[in-house]
Amino acid sequence: MARSPNEGSWASSPGRRRNMQANRSQDTQPELAVRRRLHGEGLRYRIAVAPVPGLRRRADIVFTRARIAVFIDGCFWHGCPAHGRQSFKRNVDYWRTKIAMNVARDRETNSRLKSEGWTVLRYWEHEDADLVARDIVRIVRQAQLRPTKGPRSSLTRGLGMYPQPDRDLESD
Ligand SMILES: [Zn+2]
Repeated sequence: MARSPNEGSWASSPGRRRNMQANRSQDTQPELAVRRRLHGEGLRYRIAVAPVPGLRRRADIVFTRARIAVFIDGCFWHGCPAHGRQSFKRNVDYWRTKIAMNVARDRETNSRLKSEGWTVLRYWEHEDADLVARDIVRIVRQAQLRPTKGPRSSLTRGLGMYPQPDRDLESD
C-alpha cells in the first residue's frame, strides 16, 4: 500500500498528520505559516488561483497586480533534493515516475508564466517560513515600485508636477 505522500516528508508527527488530513491540499502548514507572515506585513494576495486565465495551473499565493506567482512546493511531490527521495520505500518506480512528471510540469508552468510576464517564486515546504516570507515581501515590494503604465508616469510622479492620484493602499 502506498503511503500518503505528505507523511513521508515533513508531517511526521501524528498531530501534524491529522492536521494535514483536515486541511485542503493547498492549506499546508508551511504555506499557512508563510501566508500569516505576508499578511502581517500588510501584503494582500489571492490563494490557490490560476495566475493566468486559461492556464490550468494554480499558484499557492498570487499577487495579481505585481504579477508574482508563489509556489510552496511539497518536498515529496516536487522532488526536493533534501527530502524527496527518502520518502518512498515501496513502489519506487511508480513514485519516481510520478514525481518526475510533477517536476516537468513545474518547469512548464514556470516557463508559461514567465512568457506571460509573471515572476515565479518557488520555495520548498521545508524552508524557514520567516526567510521565505522575507524574500517574498522584498520581491513584491520591489515590483510595486515599478511603474504600472510605462516609465513616463513614474517620471511625472517623481517630478511632483501633478497631484498624485490617491494611492491604493491595498497591494493586491
Ligand atoms: Zn525538502
